[in-house]
Amino acid sequence: MKRYCSPLLSGLLVLSPLLLCMPEAVAQDGASASSGKPPITILYDARFETHDPGPEHPEQAHRVSAIVERLQQPSWQPLLRWPAFAAATRADLLRVHSAAYLDLLDAEQAHVHAGERRLLSTGDTVISPHSVAVATLASGAGMAGVDAIMSQPSATAFALVRPPGHHATRERGMGFCLINHIAVAARYAQQRYAIQRILIIDIDVHHGNGTQAIFEADNSVFYFSAHQHPLYPGSGRPSEQGIGAGLGYTMNVDVHPGSNEQVLLHALAQQLAPAMQQFRPQLVLVSAGLDAHAGDRLGALQYTDAGYSNIATRIKQLAETYAQGRMLWLLEGGYVPVQNANAVEAILSALLR
Ligand SMILES: [Zn+2]
Repeated sequence: MKRYCSPLLSGLLVLSPLLLCMPEAVAQDGASASSGKPPITILYDARFETHDPGPEHPEQAHRVSAIVERLQQPSWQPLLRWPAFAAATRADLLRVHSAAYLDLLDAEQAHVHAGERRLLSTGDTVISPHSVAVATLASGAGMAGVDAIMSQPSATAFALVRPPGHHATRERGMGFCLINHIAVAARYAQQRYAIQRILIIDIDVHHGNGTQAIFEADNSVFYFSAHQHPLYPGSGRPSEQGIGAGLGYTMNVDVHPGSNEQVLLHALAQQLAPAMQQFRPQLVLVSAGLDAHAGDRLGALQYTDAGYSNIATRIKQLAETYAQGRMLWLLEGGYVPVQNANAVEAILSALLR
């Protein structure tokens, strides 16, 4: 197995000089060995592990590294490619966040010295040394995922990032989120590739209040979320359907505690699919929170690995119907590492079928 090592990216010199060594793609542009489909692009950087909310915090580095360790098994290698990527620029982030908020992030980050942690002033989010740089790199992963799926039809990417992003609004980080990566990816796709209609499907156990707020008045991005109710952050009632020009382009589904994936699967088939006949998305982005898994530390839903496989199959059908199969999945929550690895394997296996 050939491997490559990319040195520290120049834009993130504040970080310790980690080297990222990942298996090189086995079949960069051709079909994967067993499925006939293009390899799935995995966007991951070891520096994601340097964001450190503290030993008692549920948003731990092992949430993601457990997935990566699983996907580094030899059986996965012909099916995956692991390109390097750069951090998002300030201009990239300004498509989503205000200059004032980005300035606030930089200012508060500057006050966090080695060995320290602080709470972000806008919400319940810990910043450790390098956290803003890590979040910026995570947004870059999402953008690289857009590049990957626009490179050829039926291309799929999965960005294994942290910290998560879907609670971050234009002006406010909260809920472990500093920057809204899926929103940055959507705006990048619109500007770079002139994509006119994007569907965001949010399967995290929590409502993606930040993503909804960013796009609620926008009829070019359709936001769908099925989430546990009641639960943090409390938004996402089915009556919230967008505002102004975006009215009808937001769809929220309540899932009651103890439910399995059937509510989501039913909503995808009976509510979202009919709406997509009108909207006809050109790109499908998935806020792939895995904290609806049975046994998660923060959620009280009962999704199974087989359920995640079925969810992926349904979303793939939507993408194949409207978007030439182009899908970007981006990790949000999910707080039991081994379950994250199991769910991602189930999802990727379904996408490769
Ligand atoms: Zn969540």
